Amino acid sequence: MNLISIFSKYPTQEACIEHLETVRWNDNPTCPYCKSDKVARKNELDKVGRWNCHACKSSFNVLSGTIMQKTKVPLQKWFLAIGLMVNAKKSLSSCQLARDLELNQKTAWYVQTRIRVAMVHKERHLLQGILEADETYLGGKPRKGNRREDDKPAPKGHGTKKRLIVGAVERGGRVTAPSRPPRSVAMAVSRTS
Ligand SMILES: [Zn+2]
Repeated sequence: MNLISIFSKYPTQEACIEHLETVRWNDNPTCPYCKSDKVARKNELDKVGRWNCHACKSSFNVLSGTIMQKTKVPLQKWFLAIGLMVNAKKSLSSCQLARDLELNQKTAWYVQTRIRVAMVHKERHLLQGILEADETYLGGKPRKGNRREDDKPAPKGHGTKKRLIVGAVERGGRVTAPSRPPRSVAMAVSRTS
């Protein structure tokens, strides 16, 4: 997915949140803290995408427990950063990312580091979902209204976005993980060095 598509498909914070909710929960929202599905959307206009859990009484949104938790950076910039990193032929510097997305360099570095960690770790499916124009890749049913005449079955294995993401990490080189990296990260790093 190119940058223009990302830009036009996710024009607002609301559109980004709605898309992440589909990718992460596939219409079955669950509490990220206690995994209960006894959750309800909050009706507060000023808090976009906020949910309540009736089981553990916590409040959360679709970013809770992900690399984008509590971020002040607009989600569209996160989405574009993922697109830029995946499309980059070589490793993208944080200075370049800062210029491209009008972030300060420290923030750009933070965003880049978090995305690299997610690329090789459990949140990879979230990133794939952001880059995938067609939600059917998840294997779930497309939402009503998103179904099209030319819907094809989800591609599997070679040539899918999963390989793109891994390739981007390999080009990106060293992954800076906040703690001891999981084995998959260590392997991705050692292949590039
Ligand atoms: Zn809960």
